[in-house]
Amino acid sequence: MSLTDTIIQLMRIFLPNINMQCTHDKIRPDIEKAYCPDCGKLIKNEWYITRCSCCGVKMKAMVKNGQIVPQEHYCSNCGGKEFAVEKIDKINFIDINFAALVKTEVEEERFCNTIKCWQEKTPEPPKLLVQYL
Ligand SMILES: [Zn+2]
Ligand SMILES: [Zn+2]
Repeated sequence: MSLTDTIIQLMRIFLPNINMQCTHDKIRPDIEKAYCPDCGKLIKNEWYITRCSCCGVKMKAMVKNGQIVPQEHYCSNCGGKEFAVEKIDKINFIDINFAALVKTEVEEERFCNTIKCWQEKTPEPPKLLVQYL
């Protein structure tokens, strides 16, 4: 790790606001999607759990370097190391103890529609030009 990396890491710890990327902290975890009041992006809550590939037991999931990984290195049931990531459609109070929440930015459709409407309402200047000629 270079000195620059160390400085950046220290700055992130002591000055978290300097990191321009929004973490969408104000999005409540109990709703499916909402607009982030901090950055205005449409954010979708996605829940993931991890399971042992060997015996299928649920393992507590967490997000590490942008990836879903189990909190334990080995399965507490069979000692296996392999795991599978599973996406949950609807979070319930049992899975919430195991699940990791990922806040995904949804591609905006809103702006495209606005532009389309605006174009349709615009009068067509070429016709006017034809009249004057
Ligand atoms: Zn945000
Ligand atoms: Zn297992």
